[in-house]
Amino acid sequence: MAAKIIDGKSLAAKFKEDTKKEIEQLKERYKVVPVLTAIQVGENPASRVYVKSQKKSCEEVGINYQLHELPEATSDEELLRFVEKLNTDDKVTGIILEMPLPQKINARLVQMAITPTKDVEGMNPSNMGMLVYGNPRLAPCTALAAMELLKSTGVDIKGKEVTVVGHSEIVGKPITLFLLSSVLESATPTVCHIATRDLASHTRNAEILIVAVGKAGLIKGDMIKDGAIIIDVGINRVPVLDEKGNPVVDSEGKRTMKIVGDVVFEEGVEKASYITPVPGGVGPLTVVMLLRNTVTAYKWQMEKKK
Ligand code: NAD
Repeated sequence: MAAKIIDGKSLAAKFKEDTKKEIEQLKERYKVVPVLTAIQVGENPASRVYVKSQKKSCEEVGINYQLHELPEATSDEELLRFVEKLNTDDKVTGIILEMPLPQKINARLVQMAITPTKDVEGMNPSNMGMLVYGNPRLAPCTALAAMELLKSTGVDIKGKEVTVVGHSEIVGKPITLFLLSSVLESATPTVCHIATRDLASHTRNAEILIVAVGKAGLIKGDMIKDGAIIIDVGINRVPVLDEKGNPVVDSEGKRTMKIVGDVVFEEGVEKASYITPVPGGVGPLTVVMLLRNTVTAYKWQMEKKK
């Protein structure tokens, strides 16, 4: 039987509407506008696209989005000083560091410098630490999105065998911590990564499979347990192929590309009970989690002021 498709877009639209209403009430109460400040260092086309979509989403729910563009040549020290200025600026309620940064910048150092109460990406060690304690306040947006999609199925995760493929700080590790964050709701996560010897043996055992790697076609149908729930976080740009397997090209000879996840969707859909599509699954919800985190950060600061 074909899996149910978890519709990230409609869930995102609902959460966005809730967030908008909450912001209206909070503005009424505190008479302060939430301000999300983005820092972009140097030129990067991918980051431009994100910035544009962040700005649009923020404006739709009543968050003031301010972009600061710093030159490519900005040093660690200059960037740290800039972050400190934003940390102490009462008008700024959230700070986001746009990725990728130029290679010479020590991204971790800068992320650590963002004050925890304004850390809307949940990457500061203190916010990460609260996740380890099982009491997260601000957590990485993609991990939050994956958990919301999983929860939307209504399936009880307590004790379930969950395989998380990918162990990055921004996705795989925080997802694993979320899966363990409540004693009562704890799943039984197994974490796989590049050095895992027999990936398929772990994925086949998974009642819930969460994949965050960035390799198209990594998870095939024979690696999936019947009836599993699949959350596919991967985003990969691949060429569109014709029926003979050749790349489709446009009138200028350029390859036509499409976005796919890490799971072979047509095969996953045949084996799973629920599956997220790519695009239209984790992606749209991640942006909304950023909005929610911005609200959480704002409330945190308003409470501190009282
Ligand atoms: P990353 O490169 O930091 O981490 C990749 C992880 O995959 C590592 O843990 C690595 O060990 C593991 N890995 C690599 N090859 C593997 C293999 N053959 N078998 C098993 N594990 C393997 O990437 P990331 O930042 O965590 O992102 C992962 C994917 O999620 C990417 O495709 C990225 O574009 C996507 N992503 C999506 C969103 C979203 O909003 N939907 C947000 C962030 C990242």
